[in-house]
Amino acid sequence: MSRRGGPRFVDSHCHIHSEEFDEDRDLVVERALKSGVEVIVTSTLSLEELQKALSIARRYECIKVSAGFDPTRLSFEEAEQLAHEVKRLRGQLASIGEVGLDYFYVKGSDRDKQVEIFRFWIKVASELKLPLVVHSRSAGKYAIQVLLEEGYDRVLMHAFDGSSGWALKGASRGFYFSIPPSVVRSQQKMKMVKALPIENLMLESDAPVLAPTPGERNEPSNVVVSAVKVAEIKRVDFLEACEVFYLNSKNFFKL
Ligand SMILES: [Zn+2]
Repeated sequence: MSRRGGPRFVDSHCHIHSEEFDEDRDLVVERALKSGVEVIVTSTLSLEELQKALSIARRYECIKVSAGFDPTRLSFEEAEQLAHEVKRLRGQLASIGEVGLDYFYVKGSDRDKQVEIFRFWIKVASELKLPLVVHSRSAGKYAIQVLLEEGYDRVLMHAFDGSSGWALKGASRGFYFSIPPSVVRSQQKMKMVKALPIENLMLESDAPVLAPTPGERNEPSNVVVSAVKVAEIKRVDFLEACEVFYLNSKNFFKL
């Protein structure tokens, strides 16, 4: 329970630092807080985004920053440059990510390069002893395979779009899966939620994308939408489910 008396939440993955929120970020954060969201973990994709997110996080106590690298960028040199800064800024970071694989945009032999860069970031997370937030669009199975090979298990698979079977393989190694509000309209997500133990679930908004209504701007307060749907699918009391998601996130990110 929060001080408000209602459920409390962590938005484990979103992009609140992105320009879609530059005009009204104060209001968006206020709505999140009013809904019981205590912590918003914003995931960056580049050095520029990381710097912006860190400056925003200095203004809002509830915003924590994750340092990631756009999976569709295939420059090892650029990844190494960013990692250098990430190591320097380690004390200000909640996690590494999002990093990972994107087979929706990246095809052919470029995928090998993508896998190598993903392995590089897994090693960075392991070296810095930070949790890892993983993007795996159209590459769920491959991302899980790489993670199992690397042997790193402090993992959050965000908006996982792979099969429930591969999700379960990850869950058996202690991986977490964060469920976005688009669960209300995605058969694949509903099926996955049904298959996974609630102990392996967290909530995310992935704002500004993956809103409950397609095409609408999403925001962190919508983790409540995910919570309602997941509790319903798991047939668990809403407040109890919320507390499980909340504690999973708190423990995972060491908040
Ligand atoms: Zn995202």
